[in-house]
Amino acid sequence: MASMYKKYKRVVSPMGCRAFLSPWFERGGMNPADENDKPIFVGRFNIGAISLHLPMIYAKAKKESKDFYEVLDYYMELIRQLHKRTYDYLGEMKASINPLAFCEGGFLGGHLGIHDKIRPILKSSTASFGITALNELQELHNGKSLVEDGEFALEVMEYINKKIQAYKNEDGILYAIYGTPAENLCGLQVKQFRKKYGIVANVSDKPYVSNSFHCHVSEQIGPIEKQDLEGRFWDLFNGGKIQYVKYPIDYNTEAVETLINRAMDKGFYEGVNLSLSYCDDCGHQELNMDVCPKCGSKNLTKIERMNGYLAYSRVKGDSRLADHKMEEIKDRVSM
Ligand SMILES: [Zn+2]
Repeated sequence: MASMYKKYKRVVSPMGCRAFLSPWFERGGMNPADENDKPIFVGRFNIGAISLHLPMIYAKAKKESKDFYEVLDYYMELIRQLHKRTYDYLGEMKASINPLAFCEGGFLGGHLGIHDKIRPILKSSTASFGITALNELQELHNGKSLVEDGEFALEVMEYINKKIQAYKNEDGILYAIYGTPAENLCGLQVKQFRKKYGIVANVSDKPYVSNSFHCHVSEQIGPIEKQDLEGRFWDLFNGGKIQYVKYPIDYNTEAVETLINRAMDKGFYEGVNLSLSYCDDCGHQELNMDVCPKCGSKNLTKIERMNGYLAYSRVKGDSRLADHKMEEIKDRVSM
């Protein structure tokens, strides 16, 4: 995003919490027609993300004595075919299904007649391959976390990037790589893994897996270390990513500002995780508490980061978040 702004003065806005569109050039399409061609990000969209289950793929390869990359190829090809099917399915829709978008210029190229099919408008849309549980993949590989190692995770991501570049060239489709936030998926993936491969320490022994390329939430690391460790993966997730750190430092605005400036220098899309809790019985406020220290109430309302968003993790003591996500929130140290 930073390089697009520096070079073309064009802003790549996130869609939702962290999805970003790959560049689409005004004249050249997927690649610039010449050095004056400019990317366009407005009026475009993504048609969906399908996430790889990397620890599962790794365990399957091991169990069946196959090469990890051979099994990975199979699932990447599967996702590729699903995306193609989605383009074909959507492409048959008539512009009249959404006249504002497809006939009145709401979407890029959206000046079709009501009876036209929308296929031409889809060419600037992206389709994403999601990645989650990179930390657990590294753990499964050699028993080390992304903080202790990360080389294998990097190698896998470089492989996936090369493969998707080849898919893009072959299919003429803007595939993208997305660091999946995995709200429900982070719990589902563990259930799927356990069913086939049981409980493996630091892989499937918690009710959730890690979000995208993020370090495990329980790691005892400082914000600078976390920025650097996750920065290794930054350019390998251009279709969707966020870097954030938790600031258990009260409202030390100078410290927060320093870390944001550091993130900006690195070209990150940076999230600031400051939690806020307040007691619905006595009104006491604190950055983080599970029991009110003033009156002992558990009737609390809490705001915390839920993947990309700041959300109510609790309202009057109750939560609408999935159990596995609440477990993750409990384990948070550095996230
Ligand atoms: Zn209270």
